[in-house]
Amino acid sequence: MCALYPDLMNIYADRGNLIVLQRRCAWRGIGFELTSSGLGEPLDPNASDLFYLGGGQDRDQRLCAKDLIENKREALHAAADRGAVVLGVCGGYQLLGDSYALGSEEIAGVGLLDVRTVREEGPRLIGNVAIEVSLGDEDLALSGERMLAGFENHGGRTHLGTDARPLGRVLKGHGNDGRSGFEGAKRGNTIGTYLHGPLLPKNVWFADWLIARALHIDPSELTPLDDTLEREAHLSARRAAGV
Ligand code: GLN
Repeated sequence: MCALYPDLMNIYADRGNLIVLQRRCAWRGIGFELTSSGLGEPLDPNASDLFYLGGGQDRDQRLCAKDLIENKREALHAAADRGAVVLGVCGGYQLLGDSYALGSEEIAGVGLLDVRTVREEGPRLIGNVAIEVSLGDEDLALSGERMLAGFENHGGRTHLGTDARPLGRVLKGHGNDGRSGFEGAKRGNTIGTYLHGPLLPKNVWFADWLIARALHIDPSELTPLDDTLEREAHLSARRAAGV
């Protein structure tokens, strides 16, 4: 897998997400190699099955947005088109969309998701959050285990376009904009979400779903692991969110 800008887009324990993917693959004997692509570096669309873009502050997002457009946009689209998983968390989610408007300034995103983010007046949307995920009919094997719990902290409000599907429905917390009741966005294997804190250690079923998607297999084909501690982490995140 390839982490994009791991030195700049890594607030809120994004490294934990990478470690979860690495360990869960290693425990199952699935080959896993972590590469990275930073500012000014090229991106090979065929070299990875999963691309990760984490959270960042507005200042760092500006730098990355410019570089994404100039150096990585086409490669990311090519990767998504061939079914690679592209996961953007918080600031990374915003940059996978069409644009991020801060006052009179508009930062262009890579346009993999039909969403627009606006930094409106008003407080940051902060707190524990839980959402009910609808991954689609192809993932019925996951029924009963479809809740994601985490933490959100964003000033931007994200609005879904007509082509966008939300990742889930807000059970507790703010979600995309604090009003719509939607959280995140999904198109094919491209996923954006505001949940971090971090996302995957608290929701390992979702890590497995991503691994399965990246390998083009059904999640039920993955060797089961002893998830006693991971389930505790999930339940504790749910308790924090009050669900
Ligand atoms: N800078 C963005 C915002 O405040 C994203 C923040 C983040 O990644 N936590 O909306």
